[in-house]
Amino acid sequence: MIAPIVRDKAALRAMVTPWKRAGEVVGVVPTMGALHDGHLSLVAAAKAACDRVIVTIFVNPKQFNNPEDLANYPRTEEDDARKLERFGVDAIWVPDGDQMYPEGFSTNVSVSGLTDCLCGATRPGHFDGVATVVSKLFLQTSADQAFFGEKDYQQLQVVTRLAADLDIPVTVVGCPTIREEDGLAMSSRNLLLSDRARVYAPVLNEVMEEMAEALRGGAEIAALMPKALKRLEVAGFTSVDYLELRRADDLQLLDRADVPGRLFAAAWLAGVRLIDNIAV
Ligand code: AMP
Repeated sequence: MIAPIVRDKAALRAMVTPWKRAGEVVGVVPTMGALHDGHLSLVAAAKAACDRVIVTIFVNPKQFNNPEDLANYPRTEEDDARKLERFGVDAIWVPDGDQMYPEGFSTNVSVSGLTDCLCGATRPGHFDGVATVVSKLFLQTSADQAFFGEKDYQQLQVVTRLAADLDIPVTVVGCPTIREEDGLAMSSRNLLLSDRARVYAPVLNEVMEEMAEALRGGAEIAALMPKALKRLEVAGFTSVDYLELRRADDLQLLDRADVPGRLFAAAWLAGVRLIDNIAV
């Protein structure tokens, strides 16, 4: 079934209002497009849990701290719509910049604490952009449930927090990271990797899995860092934004995995920033 592509806020509202009146459970899957099996796993989870599913595609300029990154971000709307056909979603919400941020737009949603570290520290303004657009998507779609990937674990924490703090009546559902066969976490940015870089990209996950194994055995992360950084360097990673063990619930730094933790990494390979995280 080809889902209607909706580009206008009033049309979206007209579509959703009768669903809500009929008491149907509405799910939303926010994305920036260039859909892959990671996104599609969220769509499948939404379809299984909700009566109506809206997939949103919006490359949100406010969450890019680098204009070149925004310009290079893959945009594949027609392919995306085709990939969604087999799921029978009810609407694809594709607002343009004017729909989302009309002339005079001046509101910023900012979640403190959780955003001080990791991608919050290395991408200034990123999470304000995410929190602002996600708040708007929640309100525009009136979704009862919203599906986000653990691939962006810090983002999942941030949107869960903002929904609770702003009393937005939506349940945020976290879904596991989908990976390529060689372990590389699926990401729209993987399309930007050269053939050569694609060969070495899985080393990030390999290194993290080895570290996680040692951490589970009681090792301190400091003892594991030199070898891990060396392996990434040899594989061609030019810089590492972070490689850290943090508490799974509040993202506080950990030296060792004596409470449920998460190992987080962001690193650059051939001009592409890759991120990953795994439970420890
Ligand atoms: P993005 O289009 O990158 O903004 O991602 C949209 C949603 O898909 C976010 O909730 C991501 O966490 C999720 N996502 C991206 N990659 C994956 C993946 N490999 N596995 C599961 N979810 C993912």
